Amino acid sequence: MSLRLNPARLALLAILMISLSSCVPSDTPDGPVDVFVGPQFVTGDAERPVVYGLAVAEGRVVALLEREDVAKWASRGATLRQLPGEYAVPGLVDAHAHILGYGATLSRVDLVGANSLAEAVERVASYAGSHEHSAWILGRGWDQNDWPGGRWPHARDLDAVVAERPVALRRIDGHALWANSAALALAGIEAGTPDPKGGSIHRDAKGQPTGILIDAAIGLVERLIPEPSDAEEREALIAAAEALTAAGLTGVHDMGVDERTWRLMNELAAEGLFPLNVHAYASAGSELYATLRESGRQHSGRLHLEGVKLFADGALGSRGARLLAPYSDEPGNEGLWLLKPGELKLAVREALEAGLQPAVHAIGDAANRAVLDAFELGIAHGEPALPPRVEHAQILDPADLPRFAKLGVVASMQPTHATSDMGWAGERLGEARLEGAYAWQSLLESGALVAFGSDFPVEAIDPRFGLYSAITRQDHAGSPAEGWRPDERLSWEEALEAFTAGAARAVGAEADEGSLKVGAWCDVTVFDRKLGDGAPRAVLDAKVTATVISGVQVH
Ligand SMILES: [Zn+2]
Repeated sequence: MSLRLNPARLALLAILMISLSSCVPSDTPDGPVDVFVGPQFVTGDAERPVVYGLAVAEGRVVALLEREDVAKWASRGATLRQLPGEYAVPGLVDAHAHILGYGATLSRVDLVGANSLAEAVERVASYAGSHEHSAWILGRGWDQNDWPGGRWPHARDLDAVVAERPVALRRIDGHALWANSAALALAGIEAGTPDPKGGSIHRDAKGQPTGILIDAAIGLVERLIPEPSDAEEREALIAAAEALTAAGLTGVHDMGVDERTWRLMNELAAEGLFPLNVHAYASAGSELYATLRESGRQHSGRLHLEGVKLFADGALGSRGARLLAPYSDEPGNEGLWLLKPGELKLAVREALEAGLQPAVHAIGDAANRAVLDAFELGIAHGEPALPPRVEHAQILDPADLPRFAKLGVVASMQPTHATSDMGWAGERLGEARLEGAYAWQSLLESGALVAFGSDFPVEAIDPRFGLYSAITRQDHAGSPAEGWRPDERLSWEEALEAFTAGAARAVGAEADEGSLKVGAWCDVTVFDRKLGDGAPRAVLDAKVTATVISGVQVH
């Protein structure tokens, strides 16, 4: 969708912009105006870094206000909206995450911490009551060792609350499944069913199955669980959006969506049930990507489809990240290519030529080099529509580090990965290779564009955790005392920028997002206390008191 303006409309727009950028409402916009006040607003705009309030029309900031401006706007009919909290920042954006994957974890019964069989059954009953459209009731996290008596649960315990629909609940360790009679019947599990190889079916004294399936026997039931329906995927997306906005996120760069997820997000947004600002990337093999190569980038409201998600290698924990030299703790293993350098070049070229933004997962130093090579070649064939992105950019050979700035490539990184990995990354990589690992500050100093995210559901959705990791490189207990490789820590301002303006620039949206300047969408995250000049710990203790997206308070 492109906005075409003839000269007359351009002149009108210029007049409008001049009148809007002044604080006095000499010429208020036609439609209703909201004036947000309450917290101190940090704008991210160098010219007006802190303001008293925001005037907002049609979801966008139309003026930055001082205290004395508020009465003037109110006298012109603006609606005063008091936000709870002390400290407001431009809406926090997670620049690498998986909304549906996270929503799927929410749309199951959570049995972690259930202290009795009765409590576990009650949670199942309550979930079933509020999920009438779910054909199956799925869940996880029970542990009979925490229950009085400690006996294995039974199918009939579940039958008492859900008799018609199948129920399948994984034990906390994943090695046992608790099923109700409807699930056993669907799977054809009865007295005469033999134990499968590598698994067992628990039976009572009469030889009847009890509803507990161990290891390979789990598959007898789980292979029957259907793909989620549209209704279930909608519920997962709605639940995710609620949790994400409650955590203070206003936007997400969603790494790998398919046709259906994109369609459902658009439907939900049109129904007012999905307020998030999303920049999405089609999964490489999806039908959606094939469509996108024909259509080019797609935009509707706050939903944007920017490009394609590709994978160069695996992950460090499982030694799948592709390294230039073998793992320090596994001689002979250099990790995996998911796309070999030649294939990467073709895939990147294909995306760029279609005017799409490639977002390529690269963890190991060999993978990062190969992706930068592919980008360099692609860029040489023509200026890309948006800057190509390296997702994770986790381990860089120092020789490759300056190439991000030089080529104009986005380093899309996740601070919590560093603090999750810091206990064992040195064993995998050895001291020397840590030099270019999780090197946020070095990348910033080199002039690279750094955008921050979490990779949820791999890590928690909570943006406070990412901000805290970025400024401390410590775990939540404050260890190690100086921070892990503390030279790569960021200041509060740098960390905040990577979660706001950095994320916006990564998708070429800096006029619309990432700061609270006139003309930008009014996306705001409000905390209950001032942040940035006290102990870093305050970030973890702070509460999100309000979240505003497109000028609407959604939390
Ligand atoms: Zn990811």
